[in-house]
Amino acid sequence: MNSRTLLTRLDDLVFDNRFIRELPGDPETANYRRQVAGACYSRVLPTQVSAPQLVAYSKEVAELLDLSPELCASDDFFQVFAGNRLVQGMEPYAMCYGGHQFGYWAGQLGDGRAINLGEVANRRGERWTLQLKGAGATPYSRNADGLAVLRSSIREFLCSEAMHHLGVPTTRALSVVLTGEAVIRDMFYNGNPRAEPGAVVCRVAPSFTRFGNFQILAARGEIDLLRRFVDYTIRIDFPHLGEPSPAVYADWFLEVCRRTAGMIVHWQRVGFVHGVMNTDNMSILGLTIDYGPYGWLENYDPHWTPNTTDAEERRYRFGQQPQIGYWNLGQLANALYPLFGEAEPLQAGLKAYAETFDQGWQQTMVGKLGLVAYRPETDDDLVAELFALLQRAETDMTLFFRRLAGLTIATEHEGWETEMTALLQDSYYLPEQLTPEYRERLSHWLRHYRERLRRDGLADAERRSRMNAVNPKYVLRNYLAQLAIDKAEQGDFAMVDELLDLLRRPYDEQPGKDHCAAKRPDWARSRPGCSMLSCSS
Ligand code: AMP
Ligand code: MG
Repeated sequence: MNSRTLLTRLDDLVFDNRFIRELPGDPETANYRRQVAGACYSRVLPTQVSAPQLVAYSKEVAELLDLSPELCASDDFFQVFAGNRLVQGMEPYAMCYGGHQFGYWAGQLGDGRAINLGEVANRRGERWTLQLKGAGATPYSRNADGLAVLRSSIREFLCSEAMHHLGVPTTRALSVVLTGEAVIRDMFYNGNPRAEPGAVVCRVAPSFTRFGNFQILAARGEIDLLRRFVDYTIRIDFPHLGEPSPAVYADWFLEVCRRTAGMIVHWQRVGFVHGVMNTDNMSILGLTIDYGPYGWLENYDPHWTPNTTDAEERRYRFGQQPQIGYWNLGQLANALYPLFGEAEPLQAGLKAYAETFDQGWQQTMVGKLGLVAYRPETDDDLVAELFALLQRAETDMTLFFRRLAGLTIATEHEGWETEMTALLQDSYYLPEQLTPEYRERLSHWLRHYRERLRRDGLADAERRSRMNAVNPKYVLRNYLAQLAIDKAEQGDFAMVDELLDLLRRPYDEQPGKDHCAAKRPDWARSRPGCSMLSCSS
């Protein structure tokens, strides 16, 4: 599409708001906190803000919506995406959903600070729901304010786009806009509230439906409505499955399980820790959704979670994400059971989750290690020993796999192990941990790995390019996001754009950008925002 066919006025967007047209809404239109039974959403208007100002926007998402660059730079753009003006065709609403939070049923949650603006039909015939996050209270805000602060909005904006460019299924982000309002947050819930700049992110996805949308209907015994919602979801979001029927329900659940597994395989591949995998934060489309206290693994540590709210139990730690995906799907299966009347198809879906995950993970390791195919008889041990080594000394996972791609197998010479160990050197955080015993174990593993690669027979260069296509060089390291936030809080948004640009090509070498691939500096080891985050956002 050339730029002349792009929209130059937001009022020219075409909306087709099927969610509110086809599903029952809350008859109450006043905006006060309440339980909303018998409905899938409540209509609610975004709150007006005093001084909207654009922080950044994603040109790729603008393109998905057919918006021209001039339009995105206009005053109208940030007025609309701060929630100050409704465009022709927008019909704002908040969705009703429930969820299991940290393993316990929490009842009604809902869009407490998200307001859907409507569904855009773009010129390619795609459907994109626009959703403002942080645009004020809704009937689902419970005891909170419906607002969001700049730091968490920048984190959501940058990470959704970074994930997309890494090839991880995710909701997208069009824009982040400062509101001009102050928002009070006690970042670590420890009696230190402070005023922070408020912001609004415009998120974009085919749909924002979560496991919890189904769960709340089942919990309330609203089974007819549950069926309607499932039918709606299949027709709109899974049309390739055909008209809803009991057999199609089974296919649908199977697909949800497979997509969820695929998403989590990607998380484990790139070292992403979601941080709050409650069932209200699980997308029915298998998209990464709700970027809160997420983090990126620096040193490989399966027990790590960035979320201080989960520091005790570490339910949502990196290494447990695959199991939590399964548990969450189990809760979805419980909610859907009344429509199935039998457990078998639901169990088949859960089984498919485990199989899809295992196969996907094997394929991921094939890519990460530059193998041709997975051979369990040798590779199970090779992979297990590798991850044991990565844990043994604090090792930056991202750097390690990039460096490993530089290994040579073509030449056999004296001192090869020493050279290879040197190659990996800068992926370690604490050189004093590289004891003679560790070095010997690593050399041993490298020799095995080399033998294994020789059996496959790929040339070094070919193997390297395969590995570099799945092992990113650039990820949204926690400290990088924090540096961009520090500057943005001072009114300088350049680093947000710089990171957005860097993360467009996470697998490519980018001259002059090596500092953005560097391991976490010491000052960031325990700085709030870098390694510790809370749900307060
Ligand atoms: P989360 O775990 O951040 O996804 O949030 C769980 C629930 O709390 C969801 O229903 C959110 O909409 C709601 N929530 C989180 N933060 C706020 C806020 N500042 N104002 C209103 N609701 C919120
Ligand atoms: Mg949420």
